[in-house]
Amino acid sequence: MDISYILNELGEDRELYFNAVAPPIMQTSNFAFKSFADLRNAFADEKSTFLYSRGTNPTVDILQKKLAALDGAEDSIVFNSGSSAIFCSVLALVKSGDHIISVQKPYTWAYRMFDNILPRFGVSTTYVDGTDLANFEQAIRPETRIIYLETPNTLTYELQDLEAVAQLAKKHNTVTIVDNSYCTPLYQKPHAFGIDLSLQSATKYIGGHSDTVAGVLTGSRELLQKIFSEQALNTGSVTTPFNAWLLLRGLRTLPMRLERITQTTHTVLAFLKSHPKIERIIFPLDEDFPQLELAKRQMSGACGLFTIVLKTDSHERIEKFTYALKHFLVAVSWGGHESLILPQAAGMEPAAFDATQERHRMARVYVGLEDADYLIKDLNQALSLL
Ligand SMILES: *Cc1c(COP(=O)(O)O)cnc(C)c1O
Repeated sequence: MDISYILNELGEDRELYFNAVAPPIMQTSNFAFKSFADLRNAFADEKSTFLYSRGTNPTVDILQKKLAALDGAEDSIVFNSGSSAIFCSVLALVKSGDHIISVQKPYTWAYRMFDNILPRFGVSTTYVDGTDLANFEQAIRPETRIIYLETPNTLTYELQDLEAVAQLAKKHNTVTIVDNSYCTPLYQKPHAFGIDLSLQSATKYIGGHSDTVAGVLTGSRELLQKIFSEQALNTGSVTTPFNAWLLLRGLRTLPMRLERITQTTHTVLAFLKSHPKIERIIFPLDEDFPQLELAKRQMSGACGLFTIVLKTDSHERIEKFTYALKHFLVAVSWGGHESLILPQAAGMEPAAFDATQERHRMARVYVGLEDADYLIKDLNQALSLL
């Protein structure tokens, strides 16, 4: 399907709303029925009808159709956060006694679910180094229900081979879930490699303007139906009409924003790579990245987010450098219009800082929509203080 068609037309039936070009925010909780038969049909298949906005809503529906198509999937659910997409998809698929294999160091709220919540219900998780398929093979058990992936991750960018893991999972009747937030469906299409469920934090590139929190889950109609009726409806975690409207607005410009950020990232990285205060950079499409070949095979692009290792032995200097930057905000998240920096040292007491540990000297950088020269000038003056 043509991406221009998906972003501009798919799911939009303008005659239903006065031929308005922008879809309305259908701010209603409830929908009325003209016959008992219609109401019974809605009860029988709540996902495909409009019954109550905790489950479905016309503005949300337009967005869900577009996001499913972008991923090449049968269906999608948009949640009110990426974390609730993770939580609902995993919870709907496990029961007491089940086992999960997760890639090591997944997103914070994924591992907190695996470590703090699921054990209370008799579900255990094994973490594996996902750069080697053999680690998944060794960890798999008869009761393994889910293989949970995140490729690349958002600090050191290790990848998993999606096609190989999907094949292994199919042999063992295990469901695969991947967090695709870094790439978005524009730069990586997990379903094309046989992955069952793909999710993203839509807070990042889909929204794109740092003004709303949401998550997307895509997959087969059958799996999505199960997750919808057994988790999303119960936890009340489907997104709202207004948030869906903001996300539709963000989606219109997704390809141009990623294209622009790709170019800027390339220019900024070239500057940083040759700077004497930068020990190394970590970015999945960099020529020194250890899994470059796999990155090129399964990703059609990468942009925005990368990590720099600072050449310094001082916590204080890292703080000085960080706040000397005038155009990079110190903040979590990414994917918006504004550039960001998040040094690992910021999260630790100065006494705990150990310069011999490379991780302590890492800073995650996000390049937004500003001009490359504007950002490079800023980095250059701040690095002189390091
Ligand atoms: C932000 C993020 C999430 C969580 O999404 P929220 O919308 O913040 O709940 C999940 N995975 C990755 C990789 C993220 O960056």
